[in-house]
Amino acid sequence: MKAERYYGIDVGGTSVKIGLFQGETLLEKWSVTTDTSDGGKNIVRDIVKSLPGPAAGAAMAVPGAVLPDGTVNRCVNLGWGVCRPTDEFTALSGIPCRVLNDANAAALAEQRLGGGKGRRSIVMVTLGTGVGAGVVLDGRLLVGARGTAGELGHMCMDPLDSAAACTCGHVGCLETYASATGIVRLAAQAGVTGLDCKQILDGAAAGDAALEAVADRACDLLGRGIASCCALLDPEAVVLGGGVAQAGEYLRKKVQDAFDRYAFHACLGTEVLLATLGSDAGICGAALYAMD
Ligand SMILES: [Zn+2]
Repeated sequence: MKAERYYGIDVGGTSVKIGLFQGETLLEKWSVTTDTSDGGKNIVRDIVKSLPGPAAGAAMAVPGAVLPDGTVNRCVNLGWGVCRPTDEFTALSGIPCRVLNDANAAALAEQRLGGGKGRRSIVMVTLGTGVGAGVVLDGRLLVGARGTAGELGHMCMDPLDSAAACTCGHVGCLETYASATGIVRLAAQAGVTGLDCKQILDGAAAGDAALEAVADRACDLLGRGIASCCALLDPEAVVLGGGVAQAGEYLRKKVQDAFDRYAFHACLGTEVLLATLGSDAGICGAALYAMD
């Protein structure tokens, strides 16, 4: 446990969440509005202006690919192209700063402090507008050659499903079925419109047959994708987080059952768990990365 202070910064498209940590303890947190004007050029300056004082280190979690050398390769939601925001952060604040992908930050936080605590290897799946994932294997965050390790959402489930167009340009990606947007799309395909993802899953849990069929389809595909992922990585547990995972035990059980249907026999026993850190996962993971 380190006694020095660190900043964990979670840069989102609407707001930037910032936490001041002493070791693993969160002392205080606040947020600043994300100014995406002019290619997001004010974002780092606005963060630094809000800091109450010096610290031993900081790390930024960002919604985009981060190369192993700390170069950010586009964050569409922030207006950033290829850039090195940590250089500007350190120049303005004098504080050393690292950067990582936000799904990876959440994975690190849930493995060390959250739903996956006590396990050395987890896959953390974030189910929101899209489907993201982060991998911690044998205690180490997996980044990959281009910073895209864990892009579970773009695993192709059905290349012939032309109705499932993905934002990446392909069709049939996992996130076109299992994200909040995907679940709303599946419901519309089944003739149910005007409900958001939460309403669909709440209705399914309450026993509405049409909505339950939608939830079953989404969870079946998610469990299948996770089973493939586990055949490759063999984690002790898979942790589900993000807005869709607010459906809690109802969703967890369906995904666990689907996983058990598709898993390689030697992977059976892999637990599907729920994330516990909520919206603090990003700042916690960033702070842990700054301390590493
Ligand atoms: Zn895709």
